Amino acid sequence: MTDRQEQIVKNVDKHRQDILDAERWIWKHPEVGYTEWQTNAYLLEKFKGYGYSPIEAGDIPGFYVDLNTGRPGPTLAIMGELDALDIANHPESVNGMTHCCGHNCQCAEMVGIAAALSEPGALDGLCGKIRLMLVPAEEMIQLEFRKDLIDKGIIKYLGGKTEFMHRGYFDGVDIALMVHTDNENEYDFTCQEGFNGIIAKILTYKGKSSHAGGSPHDGINAQYAATLGLDACNALRETFRDQDHIRFHPILKGVKTAVNIIPDEMRIESYTRGKTLEAYVRANKKINRALAAGAAAIGAQLHVCDMPGYAMEIHDDTFMDLCRQCCEDLSGRDKVKFDHNAWSTGSSDFGDLTMVMPGVQFYACGHTGLGHGIDFQVADPERACVNPAKAELFIADALLSDGAAKAKEIIANYKPQFGSIRAYLDFIDTLAMDKDVINYTEKGTFIDLPND
Ligand SMILES: [Zn+2]
Ligand SMILES: [Zn+2]
Repeated sequence: MTDRQEQIVKNVDKHRQDILDAERWIWKHPEVGYTEWQTNAYLLEKFKGYGYSPIEAGDIPGFYVDLNTGRPGPTLAIMGELDALDIANHPESVNGMTHCCGHNCQCAEMVGIAAALSEPGALDGLCGKIRLMLVPAEEMIQLEFRKDLIDKGIIKYLGGKTEFMHRGYFDGVDIALMVHTDNENEYDFTCQEGFNGIIAKILTYKGKSSHAGGSPHDGINAQYAATLGLDACNALRETFRDQDHIRFHPILKGVKTAVNIIPDEMRIESYTRGKTLEAYVRANKKINRALAAGAAAIGAQLHVCDMPGYAMEIHDDTFMDLCRQCCEDLSGRDKVKFDHNAWSTGSSDFGDLTMVMPGVQFYACGHTGLGHGIDFQVADPERACVNPAKAELFIADALLSDGAAKAKEIIANYKPQFGSIRAYLDFIDTLAMDKDVINYTEKGTFIDLPND
């Protein structure tokens, strides 16, 4: 470790109890995306206590602060996510929610980073700015609730980072960093090359209610239409190429009717995921056609609401190597595994950022049980919260010291998928669809969908 790194470790350790307290407090106050007001207030108070003046999103949870070194240079964003998951069967769930993706650990590490950077001399030797951001709604859940927020004009995008991009909170940011929690294993830190992208889907099959025993011939069974559509999708699965990592995982949201009534509505939420924009857009067109076929088969209607989800996440290779080196400086070489050939079929709105700027999201190990599982527990907060705070500050130091030479090199060599945040958002707007897709006419039945 260098002298600078030793000082960072001391600065973080000084606030170790604040970090551990934040982890437990947020664990006990889980809130799902765009409702994280208690968590937001808790963290705002912490940040203000360290002398910062956060800029708040206001009508949604989330805020950021800029730490200006006073010397010109790039801006590094370091992020934590505020939201929990609906998982009522978790034994420690509160109001049906739990932090079983470990975002409470991210928030705790952001407390540590903010506290350490408030220590005298913490920014000495650095140039540019560090933007610390607490972002809502990473988990893409409760699609109907979020669609309602969109219809009310409160948000435009489902994911918190995408929404923050739209609001201009990432304007001026040149490079992005964050750490997610991972399963307890022999490593302290791991990283993969990237994550799948997503199109989010709300599917509504519409039929006609009638007496299920006396007059089923007068009805149209929306539940059967839905199962026919899903069967058709299952028949597509072998047409998805292995290298595209397509995932389609619908959940039926249930019927609002009784057992002796032919169900006139069945709602489904799903994602279509894949490794490249081209691949998952193509797969999604096939899926929509198959879903529509189920409705057309029995004279039902299908309303497709496709919403731009998250882009695939592509980590910048040089930046990833720098992060690996910093993690090794902290934990030792045998405790770090960064694999440029590994790919995650999960997804994150951090991917949207990597479309326009170099970014890396790596993992800090320290939870037991499965991510998104009812057995998830933060087993080792030292490794899940305190260590990543140190590692991210090592990375900030490596990027922004020495006249920000490393950051400037990474930014200069980065080839974005889109030329600007606006260009990216304009593109994903073209992925949206919100309409009935089956036309019943005198000439016959037509499925009104673009071909793949
Ligand atoms: Zn997560
Ligand atoms: Zn998650």
